[in-house]
Amino acid sequence: MARIRTLVNRLVPAGASLDEVLSAVAVKVGRPVRVTDAPLEDDTSGVWVRTADADWILVSATSPERRLQVIGHEVGHIVLGHGDRVARSHYDDPLERDAELFGTLLVHRMRMPRLGSASTALR
Ligand SMILES: [Zn+2]
Repeated sequence: MARIRTLVNRLVPAGASLDEVLSAVAVKVGRPVRVTDAPLEDDTSGVWVRTADADWILVSATSPERRLQVIGHEVGHIVLGHGDRVARSHYDDPLERDAELFGTLLVHRMRMPRLGSASTALR
């Protein structure tokens, strides 16, 4: 938990956009990270596929909130260095639990106010 939170906090600043997250991951892994919508099997909402020149996150999700969580989960697999293709389905797998936690913490961080913004100063 603490290790994953540290990874998330070092990856992006609070309030980061999805583009900023993908750019930060690309720098970290040394190749572009791209997201594309794709039809996936019923119990799969996201897949990470590593090709020769890019990391692709394929996502099939119904709501914007769900989509962001799925992308965060797959980003977790990339940042945590889990294999080169992991389908999102087996929640009893420790790698899946770590990726899900990473995604949850990442989405939480993206929703935080940016440091130095007016909204932060008022809190
Ligand atoms: Zn997964």
